[in-house]
Amino acid sequence: MTSCCVFITGATSGIGLGIAKTIASAGHHIAFNGLADADEIEAISAELKELGAASVHYFNADMRDPSATRAMITAAQTAMGRLDVLINNAGIQHVAPIEDFPIPKWDDVIAINLTAHFHTIAAAIDGMRARGFGRIINISSVHGLIASVNKSAYIAAKHGVVGLTKAVALECATDGITVNAICPAWVKTPLVEAQIHARAQANCTSFDEESVAIVQERQPNQSFVTPEQIGGLCLYLMSEAASSVTGIAMPIDGAWTAQ
Ligand code: NAD
Repeated sequence: MTSCCVFITGATSGIGLGIAKTIASAGHHIAFNGLADADEIEAISAELKELGAASVHYFNADMRDPSATRAMITAAQTAMGRLDVLINNAGIQHVAPIEDFPIPKWDDVIAINLTAHFHTIAAAIDGMRARGFGRIINISSVHGLIASVNKSAYIAAKHGVVGLTKAVALECATDGITVNAICPAWVKTPLVEAQIHARAQANCTSFDEESVAIVQERQPNQSFVTPEQIGGLCLYLMSEAASSVTGIAMPIDGAWTAQ
């Protein structure tokens, strides 16, 4: 594959960082965003270059802000000359029963996990159409396919991402652009570690005990998915071999959704 120009949102941590490292190792140009301080951004940029990225660009938009989010994609296209691949990954979680769910948390989860995807895609699509090539990869979740208790905003957003993926795939079906969602199960990132800590506190157990319990409950292969495995799936979806793969929601979930 020749070098692609790739934008990854939320790549300062967890899954996004793992995807960025995998794609950097394949020699592509990388633009990324995410919340982090200047030293962390510098360290991540240096690591991506060290791994083999053709170039690295950072953009600091808060993805709750629609105009900053759209401007970031436009600026990345200018910086790299084009945008071939858009990976919508930034996301947050909040766990609470519906009657106690704080309205600002609902708004933030929907804004970052769903609405920001709409803005990045809308800002990227004209350039992809003009060049007759594009890959849009949305990081949804097993929670884009099935539900769990106390995660109403997250599950609404992630199901929304699957619907958005299908809708845009149809709009771009003859334009050389594929649009897919990846639906991971548990990945041990800061987003999930916060939930493991909360369970340990609630159950008077340890972080390690809850790390085992959390995957045993619903993930038949009983192991965490890794960010690098998701990065590998992104590389496949970017490839020529995946040109006819579009409009799907692809689980990477140790058979969670097979049950
Ligand atoms: P994480 O907390 O490690 O990383 C989240 C990233 O999003 C960070 O880079 C953070 O800075 C960025 N971000 C958060 N709020 C932002 C904002 N307002 N503006 C810009 N960037 C912002 O979490 P993660 O587990 O790596 O999650 C990444 C994605 O994968 C999310 O969409 C999440 O829902 C999804 N996912 C995670 C799991 C899992 O088990 N960890 C499973 C399925 C799906």
